[in-house]
Amino acid sequence: MFYTINLKTKRRIEAVEIKNHINKIILESKFSSGLCFIYSPHTTSAIMINESFDPAVVDDINYFLSKLAPKEGDYNHLEGNSDAHIKSSLIGPSKTVIVENGRLVLGTWQGIFFLEFDGPRTRTVNVKLIEG
Ligand code: ZN
Repeated sequence: MFYTINLKTKRRIEAVEIKNHINKIILESKFSSGLCFIYSPHTTSAIMINESFDPAVVDDINYFLSKLAPKEGDYNHLEGNSDAHIKSSLIGPSKTVIVENGRLVLGTWQGIFFLEFDGPRTRTVNVKLIEG
């Protein structure tokens, strides 16, 4: 079963919590057990799982990523968004989460984030539910 989530990001750097979007997909599809594969088909974004309870955690991660890949640098890519491409590669475009009894099996504090590194843009997240 294949689904897409459409997002409109509002800022250049933004973390959008998508766990509720994915839970809604699982609920409406009556999917019970297997794997949920979450994939961002963009070169300047990423999918991350980390704490969603305190938003400062994601702010700190973005702060650290910006230290690793500053906006301005001696980059070759002419589009001017090399920092976003680097951050996207560091975090990666996908995550896989177990689904059991129709629910994502995540830790209490874990959220699933779409990370925007070069917004605002219209974005898509692909979700594949694999029975098993
Ligand atoms: Zn680029």
